[in-house]
Amino acid sequence: MSKVIAVNAGSSSLKFQLFEMDNETVITSGVIERIGMEDSIFTIKYNGEKDVRTLAIPTHKEAVHLLLDTLIEKQIVSSLDEIKGVGHRVVQGGSYFQESAIIDEDVINKIDELKSLAPLHNPAHLTGYYAFKEAIPSAGAVAVFDTAFHQTLQPKCYIYPIPYKFYTENKVRKYGAHGTSHFYVSQRVIDKLGQPEHSKIIVAHLGAGGSLTAVKDGKSINTSMGFTPLAGIMMGTRSGDLDPSIIDYLIEQVGMDMKDVIHMLNKESGLLGVSGVSSDFRDVLNAANEGNERAKLAIDIFFRRVIAYIGRYFIALGGCDAIAFTAGIGENSAYARKEILSLVSEALGIVVDDDANENGEGERLISTPESKIKVYVIPTNEELVIARDTKRLLNL
Ligand code: AMP
Repeated sequence: MSKVIAVNAGSSSLKFQLFEMDNETVITSGVIERIGMEDSIFTIKYNGEKDVRTLAIPTHKEAVHLLLDTLIEKQIVSSLDEIKGVGHRVVQGGSYFQESAIIDEDVINKIDELKSLAPLHNPAHLTGYYAFKEAIPSAGAVAVFDTAFHQTLQPKCYIYPIPYKFYTENKVRKYGAHGTSHFYVSQRVIDKLGQPEHSKIIVAHLGAGGSLTAVKDGKSINTSMGFTPLAGIMMGTRSGDLDPSIIDYLIEQVGMDMKDVIHMLNKESGLLGVSGVSSDFRDVLNAANEGNERAKLAIDIFFRRVIAYIGRYFIALGGCDAIAFTAGIGENSAYARKEILSLVSEALGIVVDDDANENGEGERLISTPESKIKVYVIPTNEELVIARDTKRLLNL
């Protein structure tokens, strides 16, 4: 029996899923939030029960100890030695990592070096790594990078049309994100298509953050997020693509400072900014249904920004075998899928199976046999990819 824990350490949170890798089942999962506050929240799910505790957890180290003590206390494991591997999600792997890597001195230095590109995330991942390494020294550790899947982009897709020296000297290029999700979902679709040698797939990861990826023969050829996750489609609180002159205008003419503008674009824009209601798609949809015009507008803009990328990637791929919807909105909102697809159905010959779209559950086909493009709903599972890579690289 080999157990692997998939970890996602953020600046003030730590999400985890403990897997039994022999049958790839999740034994327990949960999250520790508000680390560093007086009222941190520890949520753990086990055996169909959810246990939520509020207590002060000052650091990630204490968070990891609390989690591991709880695993013993609840007899989820009898000894920590049962956990053979720890897989860490890492947001930014830059151009260094085309795939997951066993964490050693060199990998630590590279993750640390890349913190300029992901100042909130990469240091937090390393903090999580050190906390687990100290608590379970016998377990191997693997880093799984959000950017790795997009390392197959060609320079013509990742170089920005600005002076080239900003790429060579300052690493300014498209890196993309959500790679682990796009990889998992596209692999599931390839499976469903019968493992053809050639395939053209568009994955729409629509959650609080969102991105679309064009996947050709299993490889990412383009993706909507860019140098950072701020680029691409409109999101819960992020603007997505816009004319950079707006930034200069807001600074020069409106008197904002740069930090405030960037904060506004990351945290106060998107669905929240336009609707004025919420960053949560469900809340905005409810408000729209009650007649809130700005909420309706926010949703209309969101849909149009998504179809712009579907159109772009249909062309880039030279056609498309399948479109897959995933993440919170993509998996759960039949309305969002239907509306997005209705905006492209005439051009792309898509016919939605309304019953499968509205009433089905989990992984499924939601297009009819006459549809020119197959459309799938695929619940994403980044943790499983992290656990699988950890097991594979550590030879467990
Ligand atoms: P994620 O970041 O993948 O957890 O996705 C979060 C987003 O999914 C939020 O905007 C939620 O409002 C949205 N979402 C979750 N469930 C539903 C649902 N049943 N219908 C519509 N949107 C949903």
